[in-house]
Amino acid sequence: MKPKIIHIQDVTLRDGNQALRRPWTIKEKIEVFDLLVDLNVDGIEVGFPSSNEAEFRTCQVLASRAPKGKPIAALSRANEREIAVTWEAIQKADKPRMHIVYPVSDFSIKHVLKISEKEVLQKIRSAISFAKSITGPGVEIQFSGEHFGDAIENFHFTKQAFMTAIEAGANIINLPNTVERYRPMVFVNMVKEIKDTIGERAIISVHTHNDLGMATATSVESVYVGASQIEVALNGLGERAGNTNLYETAIALHQNGETLNINFQRIFPTAKRIAELTGIPIGEKTPIIGEDIFSHRSGIHQDGVTKTLHQSKGAYRTFSPEFVGRNDKERISFTNQSGHKAIEFLLKQKGIQVSKEEVDHLFSLAKSISSSENNREITEAELVALCQSSFAYQ
Ligand SMILES: [Zn+2]
Repeated sequence: MKPKIIHIQDVTLRDGNQALRRPWTIKEKIEVFDLLVDLNVDGIEVGFPSSNEAEFRTCQVLASRAPKGKPIAALSRANEREIAVTWEAIQKADKPRMHIVYPVSDFSIKHVLKISEKEVLQKIRSAISFAKSITGPGVEIQFSGEHFGDAIENFHFTKQAFMTAIEAGANIINLPNTVERYRPMVFVNMVKEIKDTIGERAIISVHTHNDLGMATATSVESVYVGASQIEVALNGLGERAGNTNLYETAIALHQNGETLNINFQRIFPTAKRIAELTGIPIGEKTPIIGEDIFSHRSGIHQDGVTKTLHQSKGAYRTFSPEFVGRNDKERISFTNQSGHKAIEFLLKQKGIQVSKEEVDHLFSLAKSISSSENNREITEAELVALCQSSFAYQ
């Protein structure tokens, strides 16, 4: 199924913030909000207003700051007091969205809620009806069935729970993989079945966590069975191993031919700033934003890279650094794993032309230095110096 519209809903300010060692101040939350607006995500969840007074005020400020037409959501549990507080916090937004969550899995119903399925349905119906009664008709209501990804034993009931939510007034059904326990296709097939059940009666959204490292795959594949909203977080922030990573999801969909509203060039500057604001460093090998992901060190790869450097499709490149707002380029580095092409390429970049025999000589020299010094990388400057000392005419 080809997706018609893909809505990228960011939850960094709620799910991301609630899992930080030091949750953000209002000033920091405003900065993150502005980064999200610049990145042009389709919607922003600003917080959980009932958690504390400062969070409530922050949600009010962010709701007033929201650009026209940008959905601004806030989370509430399924009780009237919290729903009323949440509405008060976001109603100044041009397009407020109420987000109500209640568990639906058999395990949670039996071991956490300890109530009957019938009572769960009543709770969902009354919470959403109440939200609808205070917001009026034009406001979006999103219902999340917490632990949907674990609702395998009572899947029939889960469908009933979502139908109840829709009948009471929900127009977005959010399917969370609250804890990632199973392989992606188990979740994706469940999403498909919910889509088949509810059809066009509501928008389907997915919200996945990354406990097993498969959140991006799970969310991206869900789009192709009917989910048209994906909830994501900057730098993959969020509870435990985090939420679905915004950058990975957006690039994966883009690379597969989908149209998104994301301002891709803002990805790298945003990621760097979020790393500063959280104190959580970006790993060197982190997809899209890691320091080392455009380096090539093995001989076979260096050969392919140098031959396709200026083509839109690179032999060992999925997307270009500039596409995501990076200043760096594909890099060739020299180690004892590298090939002759690396020497030729690195010197050529410095405007130095060398013969095949000279490349052979420098290659042996550089390899022996690397091997004798614990296999260390030989820098471009060292190669130039080696070249100059070996061949006086340079
Ligand atoms: Zn979550």
